[in-house]
Amino acid sequence: MYIENIRLINFRNYNSLNIKLNKSMNIFIGKNAQGKTNLLESIYLCATGGSFRTNKDRELINFNKREAYVGANIVLNGIERFIEIKLDRNGQKRVKINRVELENLRELNSGLNVVIFSPEDLKIVKGGPAERRNFLDTSISQIRPVYRYNLNRYNKILYQRNNLLKSNKSNEDIINLLEIFDIQMSKIGTEIILNRREFIKKLSDESQTIHRQLTSGEELLDLDYISNVDFYGKNKYEIENDLLKKLKFNTKKDLIIGNTEVGPHRDDIEIKINNIDTRAFASQGQQRTIVLSIKLAQVEILNMEKGVYPVLLLDDVFSELDVERRKYLGRSFSKMQTIITSTDLLGLEELERINKSVFYIDKGEIIYEE
Ligand code: ATP
Ligand code: MG
Repeated sequence: MYIENIRLINFRNYNSLNIKLNKSMNIFIGKNAQGKTNLLESIYLCATGGSFRTNKDRELINFNKREAYVGANIVLNGIERFIEIKLDRNGQKRVKINRVELENLRELNSGLNVVIFSPEDLKIVKGGPAERRNFLDTSISQIRPVYRYNLNRYNKILYQRNNLLKSNKSNEDIINLLEIFDIQMSKIGTEIILNRREFIKKLSDESQTIHRQLTSGEELLDLDYISNVDFYGKNKYEIENDLLKKLKFNTKKDLIIGNTEVGPHRDDIEIKINNIDTRAFASQGQQRTIVLSIKLAQVEILNMEKGVYPVLLLDDVFSELDVERRKYLGRSFSKMQTIITSTDLLGLEELERINKSVFYIDKGEIIYEE
């Protein structure tokens, strides 16, 4: 799978851009604030229907314009697919594949797969549980579109449940009403837990293999799913029951704090190296290597699930890695189309012999291409 062509109109700081990409390697060079990340963001938008930087689509539209447009030609097994997204200031988002408008964003899912690695992703290691859940949710949605749908439903019920807990109805009334929410929450919550359990297991296995190679066998990386629901070795009905039981058991406490304490909205991933929790102890270089292992694992999982490698987007991270890691990463570039951004060519020497296109960006324009 590769992007053949990308066209932007009034997207962020781009007025009009139309470029043909290299099938294998593309490097975008530009000073700070010229539009490198914006370009990756537009590609990410075509893949997922959203941005990795904001959930306000309006921010993607050029300051002075009413509408923004992104169009990408994708080639998969020799077949072309044309993805188009149009955003306007009223909040409307129209998505077309091959000129046919999609009814639901979920249909976009099969059009283009990407994995992005940006400096922000270090949060997966050093950030809080919400950041890790966010990573988990976006990654699983990519391979299981129904997961996003379940997650939205779960969050809606959670929101209503919390409102009810805070309402000034009598406790007895609240407890009666909670009954319905709790049953729904345990059913949908269990679907989420099952998907997360499956994904984290695969992610752990894949990233462990990669991390071992990246550290010459010195570091054993382990990812563990942490939940306040008892899922380990349990089937769907056992998990559902456990969640329901815990929701009921916690009701009194929930009423006092006005918040729901148990459920997958509190899940986390534990990241260990040689059995030590890295969230507190990993050095900066280690954090970067862990995230690299996790991202490359995500690439492999997408390939296993979809039968095709995704497009890899590296925002300003390649030249930050040490020589060994760059060499390792360089070898994986032959598998898939890669798009790299950097402020200069320093640290990109490893890529010299790879067939590639280099673009120079200045104020939202490509001023030179080689
Ligand atoms: P760095 O090397 O610092 O990461 P970058 O090349 O990745 O820089 P981007 O984040 O792609 O930079 O672009 C930032 C520029 O885009 C900023 O100058 C910002 O003002 C501009 N910009 C962001 N959103 C919009 C918008 N909606 N309309 C016009 N310009 C925008
Ligand atoms: Mg940037």
